[in-house]
Amino acid sequence: MARHPPPPPLSDVPLEAGLHVVATPIGNLRDITLRALDVLAGCDLLLAEDTRVTGKLLAAYGLSKTMLRYDEHVADRARPRILAALEQGQSVALVSDAGTPLVSDPGYRLVKDVIAAGHRVFPIPGPSAALAALTLAGLPTDRFLFAGFPPPKSAARRTFLAEVANVHATLIFYESGPRLRASLTDMAAVFGDREAVVARELTKLFETAVRGRLTELAADPRLDAPKGEIVVLVGPGAEQVSTAEDADSALTEALTRLPPGEAASEVARALGLNRRDLYKRAMALKDGR
Ligand code: SAM
Repeated sequence: MARHPPPPPLSDVPLEAGLHVVATPIGNLRDITLRALDVLAGCDLLLAEDTRVTGKLLAAYGLSKTMLRYDEHVADRARPRILAALEQGQSVALVSDAGTPLVSDPGYRLVKDVIAAGHRVFPIPGPSAALAALTLAGLPTDRFLFAGFPPPKSAARRTFLAEVANVHATLIFYESGPRLRASLTDMAAVFGDREAVVARELTKLFETAVRGRLTELAADPRLDAPKGEIVVLVGPGAEQVSTAEDADSALTEALTRLPPGEAASEVARALGLNRRDLYKRAMALKDGR
């Protein structure tokens, strides 16, 4: 038997009219479903974030298709044409460069408009880096929160991290190689020294997972601006009732970046404490009391 048998024949059942949101591989081109191939081959209009990237995927499966670019730069211009196609009863497929569209990728506003215009939306599920990373991390999976890309600047990033610090769940972030170390350092400062995993190049030749405490990972030379695509997962913190000491150390850290009112709001959200009390304490800390 051939090592890579050709894909089975495509379905000849015509596609239903509506928007088909199609997940595509995040690295290994064979991670595509038969249904995704049916939709890519059979749709009347194919929307691609980057037509060259999707062209390569189509070519790997012997398909070719006229595509319309759909990304955030052209979204407003492209939407009327897409809605007109749906109005005429056509099947429209949306893909991003990799993984599941709408997940840190374009498509949310389109889906919203398509629903508002009374058309159907069909999910064609498949790979997503967030879920692939969760399955290899070895961190709790009963509750998880996908937080997307943290902001690039440290002050905004710490505020963003503080907003999810108190969620008792595994936290999933997308990150780039050059920003990884700074992000891990901020995560250790805001979350404490939790268990974490850096998953890199999932489904590709150099797939790796580095597991450890956040402070260990932040100091790990293997994670110094690594190449490739990265997911960071952080395990849930121990469920605990916050003490006055916790509040003081969180406030002291927040006051290095924020005025007292905003520091109090941030810590109130993060620790589930009363904002008014925290504001009084922030003023006292600021005055050195
Ligand atoms: N829509 C995609 C999905 O469902 O995963 C994500 C698109 S987002 C623009 C791209 C980010 O996803 C990358 O910067 C990286 O953080 C993550 N990512 C995508 N592919 C990956 C892979 N093979 N391994 C690790 N992370 C990946």
